[in-house]
Amino acid sequence: MKLKRPASLEALLEALQKLPSIGRRSAERLASHLLTAPQAEVEGLAAAMLKVRATLLPCGTCGHLTENQPCEICSDSQRDDSLLCVIAGEKELYALAEAGVFNGRFHVLGGLISPLKGIGPKRLRLEALHARLQDGAVTELVLALPPTTEGETTAHYLKETVPAGIKLTRLGIGIPLGADLDYLDAGTLDRALQGRQEF
Ligand SMILES: [Zn+2]
Repeated sequence: MKLKRPASLEALLEALQKLPSIGRRSAERLASHLLTAPQAEVEGLAAAMLKVRATLLPCGTCGHLTENQPCEICSDSQRDDSLLCVIAGEKELYALAEAGVFNGRFHVLGGLISPLKGIGPKRLRLEALHARLQDGAVTELVLALPPTTEGETTAHYLKETVPAGIKLTRLGIGIPLGADLDYLDAGTLDRALQGRQEF
């Protein structure tokens, strides 16, 4: 016989399953931990989740989630203004920034163009990107997008819309097909950046 979960537990399980990589079994394991953990720990987790949503806002320039405007990267005067690296999201930004292999600026798109998921160019931070390309400071746009269908679609869209005169490159050798950039080590990211090719 299938035993029904109490409604509040079922609601928690359903909420947990909306998180990435969490299936029913992982949700059961997390819920069981939350039910037995000290009250203060659970309250701390709930408070941290709400606080991060309330205090982190996209940087008005690059889209990176930050507590200060402009963000740490945009306000860093040591970075090269002529190089702008386009990435899909936060995790790719952290991967590249922490690997210390790129000294230009970043632009977070907030996703990739995906006709299947109904995500068109207007849903991404593309207008903000084009605005950044107007003053002529950026001479090279480095596309650090994943080698997936969505990454390719987005890269081609950029190729068609970026103003003439700006060199478009993308990460070269070393990136396995379909790989997530944030899973690559600093050495691989460095080689991929050094070996970037005109697109
Ligand atoms: Zn920024």
